[in-house]
Amino acid sequence: MKKSRLWKYIICLIFLAMFTESLSTRTVIATGVTEESIKKAEDEIKSQKDQLKSMKSGLTDIEAVKKQLKSKKADINSYMEELDSQLTQIQGKIDDLDSQIEEKNTQIKETRKELETAKAVQQEQYDAMKARIRYIYESGGKLTYLDLIMSAGGLDRMLNQVEYVEALSAYDRGKLDEYAGTVEYVKLMGEKLDSEMELLSQAKSAAVTERANANELLDTKEAEMDKVNGELGTKEEQAAALEKAIAAENAEIAALEKRVAAQKAALTASANASRRTFNGGVFAWPAPSYTRISDDYGNRIHPTLGVKMFHNGVDIASPSGSPILAAYDGDVVAAGYSSTMGNYIMIDHGSGLYSIYMHASALYTSTGASVSKGQKIAAVGSTGRSTGPHLHFGVRSNGNYVSPWNYLK
Ligand SMILES: [Zn+2]
Repeated sequence: MKKSRLWKYIICLIFLAMFTESLSTRTVIATGVTEESIKKAEDEIKSQKDQLKSMKSGLTDIEAVKKQLKSKKADINSYMEELDSQLTQIQGKIDDLDSQIEEKNTQIKETRKELETAKAVQQEQYDAMKARIRYIYESGGKLTYLDLIMSAGGLDRMLNQVEYVEALSAYDRGKLDEYAGTVEYVKLMGEKLDSEMELLSQAKSAAVTERANANELLDTKEAEMDKVNGELGTKEEQAAALEKAIAAENAEIAALEKRVAAQKAALTASANASRRTFNGGVFAWPAPSYTRISDDYGNRIHPTLGVKMFHNGVDIASPSGSPILAAYDGDVVAAGYSSTMGNYIMIDHGSGLYSIYMHASALYTSTGASVSKGQKIAAVGSTGRSTGPHLHFGVRSNGNYVSPWNYLK
């Protein structure tokens, strides 16, 4: 019996030490959030927003580059259209030249044929003339009447032999000259056609060069267009990636803000709770099924040990499972378990006044709940450092344990 009492003293001293420490971080027990952690989260949000801002300006840059590329593309396109129409004109010119060349070729061919014919006629005339001269000489000047008619081409042209030979010679020479003239003329015509052909060929060659140049330019522009399209594609990919990153960043910030808002609300609720004021009413007896006060509040000399010890609450012996009531209206700032206190509850009554209940077998409320005077909040037990079923009932005022009797009656 005496040994058990000593243990109770020791246990209660441990409780005192624990509570002094845990109460200094009461806000943390209640919500897990402090002004400091909110400030930290807000700083994080700010840095993320800055990051987002720089991302957005990156996006604006990309949009500007895209706009430039698109206008460049339009320029190249219109230039290519112009080149295309130039090419069409050049091709028309080439086609025209080709048909002229074809025509000229036909003319040249005909002229060559004409020249051949003229040369053949000239040759025939020359041969005929030679034959007639030979015949005159071979006949020794004794030409028959019939010969004359035959050679001269008619009676009316019948002259004396010498006259006839002279006339015939003159005629043959004239004819020969005439044919030679024709040959010369046709030859000149051919030369003229050749030189015309030369001009046409030169014109065509120039047009073909022009066409090649235009095609080359078109190829260059097409390559340039491909490059611009490629750049545009890259920029579009970059913009899409950036937009995705921005969306993710936005979602992250929104989640953070929501969390901080919740934390702030919790902190405000906690602050409101601590702003609760105690109106000076009398406490309800917290263990109505009690049988006796097994250990009272206060200093005493331990009977066997002879040491002065402080008990910070009132131990109320009560059957296990019997109700523990909230002594007064308040907010539960802690409802949990510790190896020394067992299942315990701490209630904030405002104005710096708290009540504490230990060693419960069951808890019927939780942190953050508001309770009213006389409300069943737990059941008596012997959890934690306890020798038997009892309620350790303590009261703190402005950071110090005070006698519960000041409030119980
Ligand atoms: Zn006690």
